Amino acid sequence: MSREVGSQSGGSIHNFGRRTLSVMLTYQCTAECSDCGTLSSPKVKESIPLESAMNLIEQASDLGFSIVVFTGGEATLRWKELLTCITRTKELRLPNRLVTNAHWGTSRQTAKQKISDLMDAGLGEINFSTGDEHVRFIPLERVVYATSAALDAGLRTSVMVESRLNRSVTRDSFLASFKNSFPTQELDKLSIVESPWMPIDPARTTEYDSNLAVNENTAVLQNGCDSILTTYTVQGNGQIGACCGLGMRLVPELNIGTIESKLTTLVGEAEQDFVKILIRYVGPHRILKWAAEKDPAIAWENKYAHHCQACLRLYSDERVRKVILEHHSEFEDEILDTMMLQRKYINIFNPVQHTLQSIEKIVTEM
Ligand code: SF4
Ligand code: SF4
Repeated sequence: MSREVGSQSGGSIHNFGRRTLSVMLTYQCTAECSDCGTLSSPKVKESIPLESAMNLIEQASDLGFSIVVFTGGEATLRWKELLTCITRTKELRLPNRLVTNAHWGTSRQTAKQKISDLMDAGLGEINFSTGDEHVRFIPLERVVYATSAALDAGLRTSVMVESRLNRSVTRDSFLASFKNSFPTQELDKLSIVESPWMPIDPARTTEYDSNLAVNENTAVLQNGCDSILTTYTVQGNGQIGACCGLGMRLVPELNIGTIESKLTTLVGEAEQDFVKILIRYVGPHRILKWAAEKDPAIAWENKYAHHCQACLRLYSDERVRKVILEHHSEFEDEILDTMMLQRKYINIFNPVQHTLQSIEKIVTEM
């Protein structure tokens, strides 16, 4: 459903917000979580060359990106290359963050050593992922050791916990385990966040706490996707995506080029795609609600808690695509108003002129 608009040669880069370069050195992972958004596992071997990662980090620096995030798969499986890339971001004065499942935190001592090596390379921030799926492969104890080592070293540290109904690992249970092992640890640099764990198939739903799955009443409270058009992800298979989301392996339209492409060209082209702009400003849940008002056969309520799953539905459902194709112009005023309110955007270029031109040039192939 890529709706190419504007310049065929790439278009100039605008400012949808602070940009992130997300780098997956590999799709391989030590875990094999069901519904892993990157389809990672120990068996998956796809990786990108170090030179390509370094080159894209340098391009991101030239383009004024705000941060580089190393994620995966499990980025620490490319340990030496990871340290080299972290060092390069430091040399370029680009903030960085590592997202990891902490499989390497096998003991207190090992966790301390790994954190020390990462910080020597220049790591600025670390995020750990855990939850019921993760602990099938990575014991919670390792996340606790790694979290303590990171806090001891003064790293900004976050733990992301999967959220769905009927689970054993929660924010509170993680905290209880942590306090049990490290009762005197200072926690002021620790953030623990619960995030919905979603099936990667939009036709399959899961059960969430009652207030999470979006319905007619709560759809209006949902924000747009703040990742699309600000996070660009270099994936383990060499594709570059226009968001950080879980849909990139399943939605061709979210892939905008490869590691051989010029980042400035890819960003410029992605910013001319009106569907991506719609997802950014209106958001997948509201788009589904609106589409169902036009076509009541579109059933969506109480199915999705995670906006990426709603996004997969939006791109994969022919009925939703048809509504977007025929009625997208209804959002023009809202999007222009939102853009107008973003003063920094106005300072960069004339959003009204740009977007109206873009909308007029929409190619109707979806
Ligand atoms: S730890 Fe993360 S990358 Fe690895 S399989 Fe699980 S969800 Fe996927
Ligand atoms: S909602 Fe869609 S565009 Fe946004 S991060 Fe998720 S998959 Fe990507």
